[in-house]
Amino acid sequence: MRQMALIVTNPATEETIAELDAAGVEETDAAVARAKQAFKEWRAVAPTDRARLLRRLATLVEEHAEELARIESQNVGKPIAGARAEVGMVAQVFHFYAGAVDKHYGQTIPVAAGVDMTFREPLGVVGLIVPWNFPLNISSWKLGPALACGNTVVLKPAELTPLSALRLAELILEAGIPEGVVNVVVGPGRVVGQRLVEHPDVAKIGFTGSTEVGRGVMQGAAETIKRVTLELGGKSANVIFADADLERAAAAAPYAVFDNAGQDCCARSRILVQKSVYDRFLDLLIEATRMVKVGDPKDETTEMGPLISAEHREKVASYVADTVSAFKGDTPEGAGFWYPCTLVEASNEDRVAREEVFGPVAALIPFADEEEAVTIANDTPYGLSGSIWTENGARALRVARALESGVLSINSNSSVRPSTPFGGFKQSGFGRELGMHALDGYSEIKNVYLATGGG
Ligand code: NDP
Repeated sequence: MRQMALIVTNPATEETIAELDAAGVEETDAAVARAKQAFKEWRAVAPTDRARLLRRLATLVEEHAEELARIESQNVGKPIAGARAEVGMVAQVFHFYAGAVDKHYGQTIPVAAGVDMTFREPLGVVGLIVPWNFPLNISSWKLGPALACGNTVVLKPAELTPLSALRLAELILEAGIPEGVVNVVVGPGRVVGQRLVEHPDVAKIGFTGSTEVGRGVMQGAAETIKRVTLELGGKSANVIFADADLERAAAAAPYAVFDNAGQDCCARSRILVQKSVYDRFLDLLIEATRMVKVGDPKDETTEMGPLISAEHREKVASYVADTVSAFKGDTPEGAGFWYPCTLVEASNEDRVAREEVFGPVAALIPFADEEEAVTIANDTPYGLSGSIWTENGARALRVARALESGVLSINSNSSVRPSTPFGGFKQSGFGRELGMHALDGYSEIKNVYLATGGG
């Protein structure tokens, strides 16, 4: 019997680019069984060999960078230049975890009458559930530490964007990572994802996506006491103090929201501006936003592409409906799920400032002083990222310490690097991805005591 078809669309043209059979519970169970079988072999691979295989995978990603970038650009509607940078990061992430394999180890602890040792053990089969906004990148953030620790994997990409994960699975085999170690299952989240969450042989779920689905993952995981790492939504603040380099802050601000067409959990979509420089900053920001080049993702100079789907575009538009627009950019004519760069003037109570829009919409909110800036920035259920712009170093650090956010940058928009921890406070989730910290989420500490006799 033919399974349900899954139609994959290019969001910039609305054309069908692939038609796949959607997996169901049976295929998910089969993938878990393959991963369970492969775990016996993979956990026993010598650390240096595991590192060599991950390094080979990183090199293969580099060798196929252009192909992977084109797949990602076509499937997500990402500008090709940005897609290339993302694939570059994927290779760096695999290089980092290749290097980390034999640097994540236990301790000996002084105790009486014996030797106490800790070991880092893999968890077993881990289920990795990935969203559509950065399909390959976020897959690598989870695959790298999971494999480095000796786990085997069932990877579920979002049904809208499965193509790069399928190509990556081929490169994983080409790298020499044994069959069954990484299994990609393409199918609906409420079927494949949910089955992974419930499956008794899955030890952990690494999830990135909406807070709503993340809540369900956490509830479902409770049944089998699964480990979970949740990387959820954000409503981050870009805090501009009057003593900032306003020209530089304004030039950077559009890219902190409109990158990936705003479909970024780290988007600094609340721009908090000190009242004394609000009007001047708004002028500079409008000027900078006008410069964002929106259009064909294949064009080397394009900076922003379309949204992922027509349904998502409707959702984004609903947030802007009752707001005061300060600026609305242009979009290409014709096919494609386009939405213009949009700046609105808002209060922190407005829906556009409270919920994750996940589109190219920034809410400008004035504040009086440092205390009010911190209060407004923290007045959100989320706590993922954010930026602070000021030339006063002491203020920068004071505010950074006061903000309830997992990832902050000072005088910069940058959020992710392969070697530094990434993750949220509050309802943006818990657990950390990237850096050495991610390895803690993919291993258990085992304590072993050896009695040596005597005192
Ligand atoms: P979802 O949370 O629905 O999807 C994320 C992943 O979870 C996808 O692989 C999805 O599969 C899967 N999934 C869906 N339902 C379940 C389930 N019941 N059990 C297990 N896994 C499931 O996010 P959306 O893609 O629908 O986006 C909705 C909103 O979420 C966005 O508008 C944005 O606000 C936020 N979001 C935040 C992201 C972030 O980076 N923090 C990333 C993506 C979205 P499938 O796609 O096949 O249904």
